[in-house]
Amino acid sequence: MSESPLLEHHLRTLRLPSFLAHYRRLLALHQDPLPYLNDLVGLEVNKRHENGIRNRIAAGHFPTLKTIEAFDFSLQPQLPKAKLLEHFDGEFIRQHRNVIFYGPPGTGKTHCLIALGTAACMRGYRVRFTTAAELLMSLIEAKRNGVLERKFQWLERFDLLLVDELGYIPFEREQTDLLFNVISARYERSSIAITTNLAFEQWTQIFPDAMAASAVIDRLIHHGTVLQFGGESHRLRSRKAGKVE
Ligand code: ADP
Ligand code: MG
Repeated sequence: MSESPLLEHHLRTLRLPSFLAHYRRLLALHQDPLPYLNDLVGLEVNKRHENGIRNRIAAGHFPTLKTIEAFDFSLQPQLPKAKLLEHFDGEFIRQHRNVIFYGPPGTGKTHCLIALGTAACMRGYRVRFTTAAELLMSLIEAKRNGVLERKFQWLERFDLLLVDELGYIPFEREQTDLLFNVISARYERSSIAITTNLAFEQWTQIFPDAMAASAVIDRLIHHGTVLQFGGESHRLRSRKAGKVE
């Protein structure tokens, strides 16, 4: 078949780059039009699927790449592995449930948070990674600039919000109110996954009062699963073993 500028123009207009790239090559492999069309459409669908995953992962703003396959569960014997892995099919997001990774530093909470978020991107969910400090700073800034509502709407676009390191810095009243707004807005409508080094009893240390702490905890854990990490810090262990990370 000779080149067809009109067809190519139409394929560009319809944004079918895989059709455009392969329509001549595949023609040589097919006598029947239907399998030919099937193959071409299949290529386009696969390409879009791959692009979708890549774009969602890029939009997720993950600080590094981590996979659950690279997570050594033997270092976390008390962590309920099956319960953690259940979350990797994304069903908890469909059900608007939350997940909380709780434990001391260096035990793999952020690793699992990133791996969970990446898996959700692959399943078609829109995900955003942020730290608690970063989230609150951006909310305060949005409030100061009079664009808080827009910021809330932007956050609502994500099916899963990953909030790393809740508990490292104490909150002031204004920040607590903003965090409460984010969590309330997502309650039973979309999901949050958080990591924290603080037990719930200690959350009063980072919130201005016990009422504020329990209001946030209530909404997080009502439809949420708490997974407890433990043991020695992986960072310290690696350093002792002479590895550099
Ligand atoms: P946390 O968030 O609990 O402080 P991180 O997830 O940041 O801990 O883990 C610190 C480093 O150790 C990361 O590079 C992480 O990939 C690695 N790590 C921690 N636990 C494990 C594990 N069980 N298997 C593989 N790597 C781990
Ligand atoms: Mg961490």
